Amino acid sequence: MDFGRVTDDRLRELQGELPPECLLREPQRLEAFAADELKLPVLPELVVEAREARQVPPLLRWAARHRIPVTARGAGTGLSGGALPVHGGVLLSLARLDRILEIDPVNQTARVEPGVINAALQEAAARRGLFYPPDPSSWESSSLGGNIAHNAGGPRCVKYGVTRDWVMQLRVVLADGSEATLGPATRKGVVGYSLRDLVVGSEGTLAVVTQALLRLLPKPEATRTLLAFFPDLDAACAMVPAFSRAGITPSAIEFMDGEAIRIVRQELPGELPEACAGLLLLECDGREAAVEQDSLAIGEACLEGGALDVLVAEGGPRREKLWEVRRSLSRVTRRAFARKISEDIAVPLDRIGEYMRGARTIGREHDLLVLGYGHLGDGNIHVNVLATVDDSPTLQRMRACVDRLLALAVELGGTISGEHGVGVAKQPWIGLELPPTLLDLQKRIKQAWDPQGILNPGKIFDWQSDRARELFGAMREGEKSN
Ligand SMILES: Cc1cc2nc3c(=O)[nH]c(=O)nc-3n(C[C@H](O)[C@H](O)[C@H](O)COP(=O)(O)OP(=O)(O)OC[C@H]3O[C@@H](n4cnc5c(N)ncnc54)[C@H](O)[C@@H]3O)c2cc1C
Repeated sequence: MDFGRVTDDRLRELQGELPPECLLREPQRLEAFAADELKLPVLPELVVEAREARQVPPLLRWAARHRIPVTARGAGTGLSGGALPVHGGVLLSLARLDRILEIDPVNQTARVEPGVINAALQEAAARRGLFYPPDPSSWESSSLGGNIAHNAGGPRCVKYGVTRDWVMQLRVVLADGSEATLGPATRKGVVGYSLRDLVVGSEGTLAVVTQALLRLLPKPEATRTLLAFFPDLDAACAMVPAFSRAGITPSAIEFMDGEAIRIVRQELPGELPEACAGLLLLECDGREAAVEQDSLAIGEACLEGGALDVLVAEGGPRREKLWEVRRSLSRVTRRAFARKISEDIAVPLDRIGEYMRGARTIGREHDLLVLGYGHLGDGNIHVNVLATVDDSPTLQRMRACVDRLLALAVELGGTISGEHGVGVAKQPWIGLELPPTLLDLQKRIKQAWDPQGILNPGKIFDWQSDRARELFGAMREGEKSN
C-alpha cells in the first residue's frame, strides 16, 4: 500500500487545525503508544491525543487528503495487535475522551465517550441503581471504544450477551472525515442494514467511534458465587445442559480443565481437592430470593452431576477468594513456563469436552502441555500451549500445535477467536474460517467505507502483504504470553 508520510509541511497544515497539546511527536511520547498487550512495539509517526470529539473530523479530513493511515487506540489492552500502527502514520488516542455524558434512568441508557474505562461505567451505573453487563476480564483497564471495536465479551456473556447486545447508537467519524450517527436511540429499529452492528467488532477499520449510547439494566439485587469441583472435565461440561433443564441461567460459568487445576494447585495449596480434574466457577444474580433459590439449585445440580464438593460465597472477600482460583491461572502459567501461547477459540457448547480431548491429543503428539480454561457458558476456551524449554525446535513444535488447535476449533463448528479479534495476530488463519467468497465480500465492504484504506491498515485482511508477514514473524519470535 502506498501511503503518505507525515512530513513537516503536512504537520504544519495539521497544526493549523488542532491545538498543540494534541500533537505528540517526541520519541518518548511516541514510544508510550507503540505497543498494546500483544507486546510488539511499532512506532507511529505522530500521536494525536484527541481532547474533544470535534477534533477527530478535521484529523480524518487531513489524513484523507494525504492518504495517511490513522489507527484508533483506546486503552491499548488488546491482545491481537489491533491498535498497532503497522503502516505508520497517525496513532489516534481516544483515551482522553473519557466523559460519561449522561446516565438516563428513565430510558435506562448511558451516553459515553469512547475513552471511558469499562469499570468506570459499571461503577457510575451502579451508583444510579443501574447495571452495564459486558465485563471483559480487562474491565478495570480497557475502554468502551475498544470494547465496541472488538465486540468484547466476558464471564457474564452466558446470561447477558456480548458488547454488541448493549450498543444502541454510535456516533462515528468516517474515513473522509464526515460524521454519522448509526442506529436509532431506541431499543428497536429495523430501517435498512444495521451499520451500527457492522462497526461493532470492526477493529477500527471502518470508522472511529466518538460517542456511544449504551443500554443498561436495573442493578441485580444480589449475586452469589459458587465453586464446584468435579472428578473430570466431562462431568463439569455436562452441567451446562443440566442447568438449562433445571430452568436456571447462571450469570457466569467459568471452567478449568485438569491440567489447569494441577498447575493452580501448586500456587494455592490446600484450596483444590486432590481428586478434582474439572472445576466450575459459577455465579447467579437477580432478586435476593431468586438468587438464594438458584444458588441452592445450582449446588444441588452439581452434586447430582457428580461434584466432589461445592463452595458458596455471598460476596466480599470470600467471593474474591473463589475468583482468585480462576484468575491466578494466567499469572501462574506465565511464571511456571518458559514459553506460552494462548489462543481464544470458541466452539458450540456441546463440543467443549470433545475439543479439550482433541486438544490434549494434539499436545501429546507435539510433546507439549496443552491446557484449557475460560468461559464454559459460551464455549469460549483459552487454550494454552506451554513449554518449559525456550529453544527454536520447541517453538517450531508450538507453532505446529497452534495450527492444529485452531483448525480443530473450526472443524467442530467453532471460531479461531471468541473475543480477542483478528488484528495482526490471527490473520494467517482467517482463511480457515472464512471462505474466499466471504473474505472478498468483507474486503468490498471495507473498500466501500474506506476507499483509500487509511483506517487501521494492515489489520484483518492484510496477511498477504510483506509488512504483515514481517510483523507476524517478529511476533512469533517474541511470543511469550497473552
Ligand atoms: C488481562 C486481560 C484480560 C482480557 N480479557 C478479555 C476478556 O475477558 N474479553 C475480551 O473480549 N477481551 C479481553 N481482553 C482483550 C482487550 O482488553 C479487549 O479486546 C478490549 O476490548 C480492548 O479495549 P482497549 O480499550 O484496550 O482497546 P485497544 O487495545 O486500544 O484497541 C483495540 C482495537 O479497537 C480499536 N479501537 C479502539 N478504540 C476505538 C474507537 N474509539 N473507534 C474505533 N476503533 C477503536 C483499535 O484500533 C484496535 O483495533 C483482555 C486483555 C487483557 C490484557
